[in-house]
Order: sequence, then C-alpha cells, then structure tokens
Amino acid sequence: MTQPTPPPTPSDRPPREPAAPAWVMGVRLTNPDRPLWPDDGTGAPITKLELARYFEAVGAWMLPHLAGRPCSLVRAPGGIGGPRFFQRHAWRGLSPLITRVDTEGGSGKPYLQVDRVEALAALAQMGAIELHPWNGAPGRPDAPARLVFDLDPDEGLPFERVVEAALAVRARLEALGLAAFCKTTGGKGLHVVTPLAVPKRGGPGWSAAKAFARGVCDAVAADAPDRYVVNMAKAKRKGRIFLDYLRNDRTATAVAPLSPRARPGATVAFPLGWDQVTPGLDPRAWTLRTTPAALARTTAWADYEAAARPLSRAIRKLGRG
Ligand code: ATP
Ligand code: MN
Repeated sequence: MTQPTPPPTPSDRPPREPAAPAWVMGVRLTNPDRPLWPDDGTGAPITKLELARYFEAVGAWMLPHLAGRPCSLVRAPGGIGGPRFFQRHAWRGLSPLITRVDTEGGSGKPYLQVDRVEALAALAQMGAIELHPWNGAPGRPDAPARLVFDLDPDEGLPFERVVEAALAVRARLEALGLAAFCKTTGGKGLHVVTPLAVPKRGGPGWSAAKAFARGVCDAVAADAPDRYVVNMAKAKRKGRIFLDYLRNDRTATAVAPLSPRARPGATVAFPLGWDQVTPGLDPRAWTLRTTPAALARTTAWADYEAAARPLSRAIRKLGRG
C-alpha cells in the first residue's frame, strides 16, 4: 500500500525538519535545537544543545560541589516559559548516568545524585536546568560540610546593599575563624558559603549547625537592625535584606555554583572572588554564554577545600560572644 501524500503546508516555507540528535559527553540529545531560554539578550534563543555543551565546559569545576550529595532539579523540558518542576526523587526510566541514593536506610524513595560529568549531559537531555544539592558531606548527609547564608533583598533595594550584607556576613564568619566564599545566585541576591572540615566521626549535627547559622545572622542583624532582618515575616522585610539561615539543614538545598537558572537571560550562579564583591557588582553579567570564559579567567574558590575549618570551634567562639 502506498502512503497518503501529506497535504501541502499553507505557508511558503518548507515544513521544518526536526533536527537530528546530537551527542555531548557520549549522551544522545533529542531535539538539540529546542529553545530552553527564548532570549539570550540579542533576541536569539539558547538551546538544549547549548545547555549540554555548557555543562561539558564547566562540569569538572562543578562536580566536587555535587558529588556524593542528593541533588534536587528544576526541570523545564519545554523551556523556561513552559511548565517547570522541582524534582528530588528518582523515577522509572531515569538515565543510568544519574546516581540513585538512599539516605533513609531503605525506608524512603531514592534521591537523585550527580557523581560524574556525563550525568550533566543526561540532565540537559531531560531539560533539567538548575541543580540544588544538599550541604552535607559526600556520602554523609548528617554531617554538615558547608553553611549557606542566603541574602534576599526586599524588592527595590539597590544591589549594592546586598553586597554590603555579604561583606558583613563574611566579617562575622572570619572573626569566628571560618572562611567565607561568595557566589551570585543568578537571581536577586547573593549566597555566602562556608566550607566546614568534617571530623571522621561525631562533630556537630544539623541542629547545631542551623543554630550557629542563625546566631551569625542574628549578630549581623543586631549591628544594623534597620538594614537586616532574620525573621521570616514578609512585613518585617520592608526595605531590608532577609538573612536566611534555613538553607542549613539536612535536606535543605542551595543552588550549586555554576548552575544555570531557569530565569530570563540564562543567568548562572557564579563563584566570585571577594575583589569582585564591590558596589558595582552586576550579577546579570554571568550567563550561560559568558560563564565558561569567565571561569577560565578566575581563581575564585580555588582554595575552597583547603579553607575548610571545623564548625565545633566556631560554635564555642560564638558562644563566648
Ligand atoms: P535569589 O538570589 O533570587 O534569592 P536563590 O537561589 O537564593 O536566588 P531563593 O528563592 O532565595 O533563591 O531560594 C534559596 C534556595 O532555596 C534555592 O537556592 C533552592 O536551593 C532552595 N529552594 C528554592 N525553591 C525551592 C523549592 N521549591 N523546593 C525546595 N528548595 C527550594
Ligand atoms: Mn536567595
């Protein structure tokens, strides 16, 4: 039997051929030309293939911040204008490049985890744009391995005020004997991150870590209550910066350094040197397009692992006031 001839298309243009699959890091990408961000700033879209190539370019840098920790995803398979969903658990048919991890001794559903760079290409294939790992030590979710201070400005505040907040948090942490690193979020605020040395066994757990993070935020806010608020209540945030310490818990997440965001402009959470955390800082400068070259030029966060210090000492110091 012969196939019926399809009716002619009403436009002058020939019907668009679906692009052939592409391969990145050994992973097959279907619909590689699918736009994920509609506008790169010049009116051209950023495609799924570009996301995969971005992950290929920066994956080796990202991996130490991801490996061994459950990681939630923000997926937008049809692009950031379409449905988006936050996913933390593995599902049937998930790429074998992505690790499934059981953190609850077999009682819960397995979490997703990124332990190899190829997994990032598999994420691009499924339209996963954002990576939000836990903050425990690799393979030990009960052991805090970093603290994240999430600085969220009230609407309309100049970004310069967020910069000042990051410097204030840094000063507090350093006074307590801890190191501080700063990253853009690809959004409205900044994150200040503290690497922690994790003892072989024992050491402070998450409740102590969270109480410590709250203590640091309280101290910063006490110095300038007109600028900062540690309270969740929206009304109290008016004209202030919300110092959010709640990222610091066993299953709480923060966006990974170098993760793209499912937001207009394809901004990226970029690791900064403190010499970049100045009043002129514009977090929109780091995008999927600009980040690989910017990363090649920076040594920011190079000493991240070496700078890790035990939390126990800092807790005692904070307690002594
Ligand atoms: P911004 O600078 O715009 O605030 P952000 O990444 O800090 O960007 P927040 O909304 O302040 O965004 O959220 C802080 C962190 O909380 C995120 O990085 C993310 O890991 C986590 N988070 C946000 N939304 C969810 C969610 N729906 N479920 C779980 N965790 C979330
Ligand atoms: Mn935030």
